[in-house]
Amino acid sequence: MSAPASRYDVAALRRDYPLVNVIAASGVALQPAGPGRHKGLCPFHDDRRPSLVVYADDQHFHCFACGAHGDVIDFVRHRFDLGFAEACAWLAGQPPHAEQPRVNPVTAPRERRWDRLTLEEQIVMNTAGALYHHLLWREPRALAYVRERGIPDWVIRECALGYADGHSLEGFLRRRSGLRLAERLGLLRRPPEPNGTSRLREFLAGRIVIPELRGGQCLWFIGRCLADEPDKPKYLALPGERPVLGFTRAAGQREVFLCEGAFDYLTAVSWKLAAFSPCGTRLPADRLGFLARAQVVYGVLDGDAAGEQGSARFGEQLGQRWQPLTLPEGCDLNDLGRQADGRAAFFRLLDQARQARREEGRHERQSAAG
Ligand SMILES: [Zn+2]
Repeated sequence: MSAPASRYDVAALRRDYPLVNVIAASGVALQPAGPGRHKGLCPFHDDRRPSLVVYADDQHFHCFACGAHGDVIDFVRHRFDLGFAEACAWLAGQPPHAEQPRVNPVTAPRERRWDRLTLEEQIVMNTAGALYHHLLWREPRALAYVRERGIPDWVIRECALGYADGHSLEGFLRRRSGLRLAERLGLLRRPPEPNGTSRLREFLAGRIVIPELRGGQCLWFIGRCLADEPDKPKYLALPGERPVLGFTRAAGQREVFLCEGAFDYLTAVSWKLAAFSPCGTRLPADRLGFLARAQVVYGVLDGDAAGEQGSARFGEQLGQRWQPLTLPEGCDLNDLGRQADGRAAFFRLLDQARQARREEGRHERQSAAG
């Protein structure tokens, strides 16, 4: 299906498809940031402030948070999960020098969907997940971090939490000839070095890795760094459409718990709740079907502006089913879980909410009968 790369004049593509236009057309809003520069939210990690810089003079982009880097073809490849020749073919099919976003949603290639992996890709993901899990038990610093956040060892095992040490994955996959697939999946990347060479880097290096497991298989990874640093995003996730973390815990349950953060989710799992997390504050309406059997979706979002906006959105999407829980003193669920009385405080709050809903239901039935 894919044509050989030599069919395309790569230099002409780079010239005819200015990077700024292609990035804007893919749905990333860019702002001017000085002469010959634009910046915007990086689509390759969960970017909260503009970390992606686009340089007009040599037509390349660089993300100062996750290290994503390259030219217009690299951008299209990673944004739309295409091979090199496919990315060239896609660009060649676009109107050149388009000033305005021209990407037609029907013809635009889709973002990667992690619930649609090939057999070979799934094997690489499972291999990476198993290796990361093994490495967590062997790295005392990483293990201490997870335990300090109140996550018990049985949850580490059940959720197959892991640690990316930054070098083991490459060696492990090299022996199994999985390197190219791992690069395509975004597990390994090849940012150019100043001296013109480039070597593989592990995307989640130095992070606690939380996989989304379905049927015991690793679908996707999100990574949390061990120490908060100003220029490093706390979380990095593999690019593409984010699967819901904990999908199979929540799907089909009558009472479910939507947790904002990955560690809030792990705390809820340790309390044996039917928890899931969008790893953020939004989920598109067309991804809420798995909650069809839920009578109530308890919302455990942070008490900041993003959490409040998220809660209002879920209220519109889920109607009567949505029941936000306000945690004491604006702390998140993981913070609460680490307090001496935190678990008991949470269940008291939950009991009150359950009781209020029962009374409301009784009230509605009475007024319907009367
Ligand atoms: Zn980035």
